[in-house]
Amino acid sequence: MLDVPFDHGLAGNEALLKLIGRIVSSGRISNAYLFKGPKSSPREAAARRFASVLLCDDPSRDGAPCGTCKSCRLLVTGNHPDLYVVEKEGASIRIKQSHEILREALLKPYQSSRRVFLILDAEDMTIEASNALLKILEEPPAYVTFLLTTSNPRAIPDTILSRCQVIPVKAMSPPALRQVLVGRGVDPEEAGEVAELSGGNLERAMRLLEVEGKASRGAALLEEIVSSSPVEAAQRYARLEPSRRVDFLDDLEIELVKKLRSPEGPSEPYFQALKMVLKAKERLSRNVSAFLAFAVLFLDLSRALNRVAKDRT
Ligand SMILES: [Zn+2]
Repeated sequence: MLDVPFDHGLAGNEALLKLIGRIVSSGRISNAYLFKGPKSSPREAAARRFASVLLCDDPSRDGAPCGTCKSCRLLVTGNHPDLYVVEKEGASIRIKQSHEILREALLKPYQSSRRVFLILDAEDMTIEASNALLKILEEPPAYVTFLLTTSNPRAIPDTILSRCQVIPVKAMSPPALRQVLVGRGVDPEEAGEVAELSGGNLERAMRLLEVEGKASRGAALLEEIVSSSPVEAAQRYARLEPSRRVDFLDDLEIELVKKLRSPEGPSEPYFQALKMVLKAKERLSRNVSAFLAFAVLFLDLSRALNRVAKDRT
């Protein structure tokens, strides 16, 4: 069996896989589905999984692609002629793209028994683009299936929503995210840590991984803390091994010292922030609850550092 890359992130989401299996084995495939879930959910992976089952010559009864037929092989290399993927161009999906969909949807399937149109982030369609798409959604050729993904269904016109069957996609669990990251070549131990720290959020995890080396890692951590909810972040960091907690505070400390030495000159908020980190270290060494120590630190830090951001503007 081939390693089907679009399965990553769905591990542990048995209910979703079962639902896909039920739909496909019922043989009653609708013309449009909306994969709806929070930003941290594997919506695209779920929709691609569904597409792979719809296009596979011999899917299993529980809704898995066979992994060996010509369709499956074409999907893995991203070359399936009956899968048409639509992504934002810049900030939105434009009317020009809807017109291309209308043209493409008239073409008969080439390799499989149907043609699948995958529209990513459908909430970002312009009004003109969704009106144009509506024309084909109202009367699609029988062989066409539309798969839309969204994290914000309220931004999609009702006229489109009412034509879609909704498939809810839950956020990834940290272990599922770890598997995704390992699949992308991240060292398993680092993947596990980043998956926990990001709370299963792929985008956050990628931000944390983007940087290498201690100092820049500290910068990413700092940004991550200031941009997330302090309490939520504290819950995540409190789950780290005790030695990891100290490593993390060390990284933050290095970053703050670096900021204080920067050519822009020392800044009072960074100095305060550094004191807060040292205070948190001391609290942790006295066996204060890790959650409390982190919650206080993150609340204070985001206050202090958001002030830096304001002073700059
Ligand atoms: Zn197959």
